[in-house]
Formats: sequence, C-alpha cells, structure tokens
Amino acid sequence: MDAATPPDLFEAENQTLLVARSAYQRHDGLEEAPCRQALGDLLVAYERLLRETRRLVRRSDRAELDMNQLNLRLQDLAAQLEYRANHDPLTGVLNRAAIIERVNQQLRSGGLALIVLDIDHFKRINDSFGHPVGDRVILGVVACLQAVVPPTAQVGRVGGEEFTVVLPGQGHDTAMPVAEALRQAIESHRFDLPDGSGITASFGLSCLAQGGTFDNAYGLADEALYVAKRGGRNRVSLAPCSRHLPAA
Ligand code: GH3
Ligand code: MG
Ligand code: MG
Repeated sequence: MDAATPPDLFEAENQTLLVARSAYQRHDGLEEAPCRQALGDLLVAYERLLRETRRLVRRSDRAELDMNQLNLRLQDLAAQLEYRANHDPLTGVLNRAAIIERVNQQLRSGGLALIVLDIDHFKRINDSFGHPVGDRVILGVVACLQAVVPPTAQVGRVGGEEFTVVLPGQGHDTAMPVAEALRQAIESHRFDLPDGSGITASFGLSCLAQGGTFDNAYGLADEALYVAKRGGRNRVSLAPCSRHLPAA
C-alpha cells in the first residue's frame, strides 16, 4: 500500500464480501436457489451497512473539523475580550482597571514607584484645533512614554489625558530620573501642531513599600502632581515617600 493511502477501516468486511460474492456466483448444486437467495440478501445488507458506516465516518470527520475550527475561533475571541478588558482602545496601553489590579497585585509581594502625569493645558488643544488633533497629541505622549520607560515598567491611561507609569521594585532615587526623562521626552517631542507650539506635562511621583494599595500610591502621586501644576507645570514633584505599615 502507498504510504500516503490511509488503511481501509473495512478491510475485513471487504474480504468477507469477496468470499460471499464468489460463493454466490458458483453453479454446482441442487440447493443452489435458496443458497443464492440467502447470499444475495447478505450481500445487499452488507453493502448497505458499509455505505452507511462510511457516510457516518465522513460526517463525524467533518463535525470534528468544524469543532476544532470553532475551538480555535473561541480561543481567539477569548484573547480579544481579555485584551479589550485590560487595554485603552485609543492608545493600546493598560486601562485604569488593569493598572489598579496590577499595582495592587505587585504591592502584595514588593514595593514600587508610581508616576502620574497629566498633559498641561490640554483643553487648549481641543478648543483650538479640534478633538482629532487632541487625540493625536494623546497618542504622541504615549509614544514618548513608551520610548523612555524601562522594559519592566507598565504604562496606563487612567483618565482622558492622565497616565501612569508603574516601576516595580523601584524607589525615588531610580524613579525620579525616569520621570524627569519622560518630562523631557514630551517637552522636546515634535507634535506638529498647526501653530507650531509644543506640549508639556506635569508629573507626580510616589513610592510605596510592600503592603500598600493602589489608592495609597495614587493618592500620594496625585497630590504631588497637583503641587507640580501649582508650581508652574512642566515639572516633576515627589511625594513624601510613604512606608505602608499593615495594621497590627
Ligand atoms: P491642566 O494643565 O490643569 O491639566 O489643564 P487642562 O486643560 O489639561 O485641563 P484638564 O486636565 O482638566 O483637561 C482635560 C481635557 O481633556 C478635557 C477633555 O475634553 C479632554 N479629553 C479627555 N479625554 C479626551 C480624549 O480622549 N480625547 C481628546 N481629544 N480630549 C480628551
Ligand atoms: Mg486632566
Ligand atoms: Mg491636563
């Protein structure tokens, strides 16, 4: 048999049919008529059985193929749903819910630094040039963040034009230069606005030890961000680094 030809599932039955057919075709006895009749019936029934069985096997093969394809589609849809549940549709970075979940999870096993930033005078962009230009500025800011953050950092969009950068395991000594590099990257980025103006953002930075929560880290960083805004914008302000002490 050719190696590519699949074995016949009904090889034994085919052999039986061949024998029956040769007996059926013999003409050597007086009892020939009833014998031929019985053999004839056997042939008809057996051939019908073979046809039906083959039809069922083909149908079951098709059903298995359909099921495998459906299964793949289902896995693909589940992955898409998971992605949409965790990511911001405009920028593709993590959404607020995903950032909260990840920060809380990371704080169960270690400390982290949280940078919160807000684009300065962003309303002016929308009001002067329209919402689509505002969206392009948001995308440009995210591109600046992604170009600068270390590989272990997680970038999130927590509000309309407010973002977070989570730096797992880092304190203010290493996180402060990252925040400053982000500030400079945005300040020097060419956003190609119609009036040629640039974009800046203000930053708040907090550092939390293991055992804290997102609300602790965000509250501190947001206060620091407010200080940066009040201080003139386009600057990084550091929250007093808090050491979260779990209740005794
Ligand atoms: P500040 O320097 O104090 O931050 O001033 P601001 O003008 O940036 O004020 P604020 O942060 O309150 O502005 C938020 C604006 O962002 C208001 C809202 O219309 C706009 N915005 C929120 N989400 C989007 C978005 O997805 N696309 C666009 N184009 N604009 C958005
Ligand atoms: Mg804002
Ligand atoms: Mg703003």
